[in-house]
Amino acid sequence: MRSFLRFLLSRRNSFKPPQQTHYKAMSTSSASALLYAASVASPAVAGTKPDDDFTKNKVWHLKHGGFENPWPSWQAMSGPSIMKAMISRRFSGASNSPDTTPPPNQKLRATWLGHACYYVEFPGGLKVLFDPVFEDRCSPFSWLGPKRYTPPPCEVTDIPTIDAVIISHNHYDHLSLPTVTKISKQYPDVHFFVPLGNKKWFKESNIHNVTELDWWDEVDLTLTPKSGKDRSPSVTSADEPKPEGAITARIGSLPCQHMTARSLTDRCATLWSSWSVTSGGKSIWFGGDTGYRAVPKESDGEDDWSEKWAHLPHNPEFKKIGTMRGPFDLGLIPIGATCLDVLEPPQKLKEALKHHNIPEEGVFDVCNIGESREF
Ligand SMILES: [Zn+2]
Repeated sequence: MRSFLRFLLSRRNSFKPPQQTHYKAMSTSSASALLYAASVASPAVAGTKPDDDFTKNKVWHLKHGGFENPWPSWQAMSGPSIMKAMISRRFSGASNSPDTTPPPNQKLRATWLGHACYYVEFPGGLKVLFDPVFEDRCSPFSWLGPKRYTPPPCEVTDIPTIDAVIISHNHYDHLSLPTVTKISKQYPDVHFFVPLGNKKWFKESNIHNVTELDWWDEVDLTLTPKSGKDRSPSVTSADEPKPEGAITARIGSLPCQHMTARSLTDRCATLWSSWSVTSGGKSIWFGGDTGYRAVPKESDGEDDWSEKWAHLPHNPEFKKIGTMRGPFDLGLIPIGATCLDVLEPPQKLKEALKHHNIPEEGVFDVCNIGESREF
């Protein structure tokens, strides 16, 4: 669970222009009018993985099923303390309407739709929705549980095209049954990408276009232009030549530090992931609900970058992700885990940027609900 402010990490210096010129032939203004068949396959050339015992032995897998955060930087929260944090949290922010006209100049565009939900349009035409939740409450009950303070900037039906939905983990504020049901009804061809162990839940929810991945696994998604009304997905091998006008993407599940549960008995039974998506010459990383290190309550009001707290461990996986799968043009990263004041995380971010001599704007930026940014 995270606060409802997220920020954008721009890596514009690392931008490489799109290699596949056929993307340019398919203007984004007409992309939403075309029908595509989706196929998912293992990549012919796999991305690099860390060559360490941690990754080889899949240390995050528990012997008798389920998963864990095997790092000193993880600090488990008890059930009561999670409840306390949930009850005490309040939300704020201004809502507006997202701009859904196609991005000009073949740019990457990201629109924040509240909480963890981002709608990302890639230069080649791929449209991806991350962690969509459009309900009033994040709970198994429609009448009880954390209620959103700010209404979503739009409804599912307002989103013009969705090719893929990527889920970071199964907490109710990131995976909503009413929302994914609405999406799969509106877009029967949409493909869902989920962390290991979540496919069963989707199948039981009558959603079958689902690929589940373990950390460091990745697949190729190919959207082939079709005519007529038949949009059923087909699976092809990754080394098959892609049809003219096809939209291609490489989608990878990557480590992050969090946990999962949808009931009192399924804690960490399914995996949680961050994700990389590369399409149309642009690459992004979506952090899900990840933490980076655990900072004790006693550090409240203090500079936790100081010597006093320097011993607190950082999660080592993010450096590996950057080295193995980066650079990224855009990182979507959560800030503010259990703050009471929603304006506190951006303030803390500014302080951290100052501390590390990073410009206050242009590298790590906070955006508003419904706001679109281009990269
Ligand atoms: Zn969560």
